[in-house]
Amino acid sequence: MAREFSLRFWGVRGSTPAPGAETLRYGGETTSLEIRAGDQVILIDCGSGARNLGRELVKGDQHKIDLLFTHTHLDHICGLPFFQPAYDASYEVRCWAGHFKDRCCLLDVVCRIMSPPIFPVAAETLKGVSFETYVPGDEWMLGDVKVETTRLNHPGGACGYRLTFEGRSLAVITDHEHGDPEIDAAVEAFVKDVDVMIYDATYTDEELPRYVGWGHSTWQEALRLSKKANVKRPVMFHHDPARTDDQLDAISAEVESRHPGATVAVQGETILI
Ligand SMILES: [Zn+2]
Ligand SMILES: [Zn+2]
Repeated sequence: MAREFSLRFWGVRGSTPAPGAETLRYGGETTSLEIRAGDQVILIDCGSGARNLGRELVKGDQHKIDLLFTHTHLDHICGLPFFQPAYDASYEVRCWAGHFKDRCCLLDVVCRIMSPPIFPVAAETLKGVSFETYVPGDEWMLGDVKVETTRLNHPGGACGYRLTFEGRSLAVITDHEHGDPEIDAAVEAFVKDVDVMIYDATYTDEELPRYVGWGHSTWQEALRLSKKANVKRPVMFHHDPARTDDQLDAISAEVESRHPGATVAVQGETILI
């Protein structure tokens, strides 16, 4: 029998948390994904949703966690200082990032956000955490999971991931703006034939011209890319904080009618890959 390969959304928002009456159903927490592959735990990004994820993880018995960062904008790292396993020396939380263009590294960024006068607790208190840096294009094994990476088009850089486990595959492409021919071609090859693709659908095609250079894409582009690359299930992700539940319902109906199986990410939802 095939072992579990699943993805759970703990945060689906981009830019900043968006709690409130208009975001109750799709959720207001920022980027945080939990992937289970057999008994392995792999997380992607550590946005505000990671606070609740950490509270759940400490109830289990898996103490080895790999945390892959797409990049280090605040909406993707703001949950780390509130992620319970990170403070516990009985955990081994390995943090990975590959978007840095200069000599900066993940530890530098964490030290910056966890220092006075921004934050009361210092980064040295993260007893369970270690940091690894890679170069986009690198690939490696995490246990039985193959991890592949690619460069995305985003201010300051970002990396996409493709995880393969027992013949099934998941791609995470956020934060990314389409329109650079070289990067677009590389991303298309990177997600070719993938089973599930989580994609930056911050904007619509109609909105994008006002936000060129901000580093995000559209749900229409997610579907165009899925058609070209034979992606089975595209999932719209990194919702604009201003996008209401009703608007996301409308986008959900539209994507499903154009690409059967395509969905809009919902906080709390689990997808079996
Ligand atoms: Zn973001
Ligand atoms: Zn970003």
